[in-house]
Amino acid sequence: MSGEQIKAPRGTDDVLGEQAVARATLEARATAILQGAGYERIETPTFEATELFARGVGSSTDIVRKEMYTFADGGGRSLTLRPEGTAPVCRAYVQHGMHKLPQPVKLWYLSSFFRYERAQKGRYRQFWQVGAEALGSEDPAVDAESIVLLGALLREMGVSGVRLRLSSLGGAESRERYRERLQKHLRANEQRLSSEVRERIELNPLRAFDSAHEGTVATMLEAPKLLDELDAGDTEHFAEVRALLDRAGVAYEVDPTLVRGLDYYTRTVFEFTSDALGAQSGVGGGGRYDGLVEQLGGPATPGMGWAAGVERILLAGGPPAAGGHAVDLYVGFDVLGEDGSYPRVKRAAWEILCEARSAGLSAQLEMAGRSLKGQLGHANRLGARFVAIVGERDTVLKDMRDGSQETLDTDKTVHAALRGLRDLA
Ligand code: AMP
Repeated sequence: MSGEQIKAPRGTDDVLGEQAVARATLEARATAILQGAGYERIETPTFEATELFARGVGSSTDIVRKEMYTFADGGGRSLTLRPEGTAPVCRAYVQHGMHKLPQPVKLWYLSSFFRYERAQKGRYRQFWQVGAEALGSEDPAVDAESIVLLGALLREMGVSGVRLRLSSLGGAESRERYRERLQKHLRANEQRLSSEVRERIELNPLRAFDSAHEGTVATMLEAPKLLDELDAGDTEHFAEVRALLDRAGVAYEVDPTLVRGLDYYTRTVFEFTSDALGAQSGVGGGGRYDGLVEQLGGPATPGMGWAAGVERILLAGGPPAAGGHAVDLYVGFDVLGEDGSYPRVKRAAWEILCEARSAGLSAQLEMAGRSLKGQLGHANRLGARFVAIVGERDTVLKDMRDGSQETLDTDKTVHAALRGLRDLA
């Protein structure tokens, strides 16, 4: 019975071929950079209690208001596919008593996330993020190090036209004071604002800075800036983060209009953009979230972290690493031998495959019933170094680099391929 073709849901995609290779490269580089700086890998569950995000990400955010994949499970609990990684990491920090470990606790992840967004190039409904969180220290060096590490990853991945914008949102108190002043300014200019911004004056006035609407942009140019309202402690913290970035040779622009889409940020916020990305120019960003762990029921714990989009890094990055996984030995066999020889030569070829893999070679076996010529052509496409053609009496080992070949006892094939590879090294 044949059925109608089923496609992957809108805003999702399969990861194939070169893309999979490029992701493996990204993972290897992220591991080297972050592990080298003392970050340990963490995996949290794909779904969490909805409450975690409602409380952690903030009920006024777009994510919580309209982008979450929320469902009731068989037991009637409300669960949500994770839309971001910071709240789950903080939840794990509290749940596993990590505040008892030496601080800061540094954790990193590479996982898939889910948001019901308008799907377009660079914006998906399932996407991947690499992220890093440092919990338990408010030292400005944590902020600067965190930013430097993401900068290093973007550089190593060949992301072009990178800009770093930086700001500080201050602590809870100065932010609350500022919020009221900004609301006053917005109400006084209500008729110039977009309807969306107008509706959010009470709920989330800071997001007005993100609007592209003409009247709103003009209004925001005249709006008071949070950076001018920081208290002494926040000002000093921000100055130190900047001084450390200067000493690390990191270029940035202070942008007082930078507000990020999540409610939990305090003090430092930053964003990397790439001019290779068009409309969706954000590659990664983050900031400090000194109140979040406590909000999730843990002890008062400062935190700082970032997340960067894997798809966007690859879109804006350099060419994928050449070659993929090299094949050392392609094991083929003589399909035109004497009558009845086929199963015998195929089993002998199978044994060579197993032996080659035990010896540490990357090896593949002919599995599509190709002709001899077809086997060689396929091995060539795979970039195989050696091809073994197993016959009824012996095996021909062909060096694909110079075309030379020798006839061997079949049980000497792997040994000869190993020797050939060693000589080459
Ligand atoms: P955010 O968690 O919103 O601060 O996003 C951090 C980074 O994740 C962004 O800079 C993007 O690179 C990436 N990102 C966020 N949302 C999406 C999405 N829907 N599709 C692809 N990448 C995304």
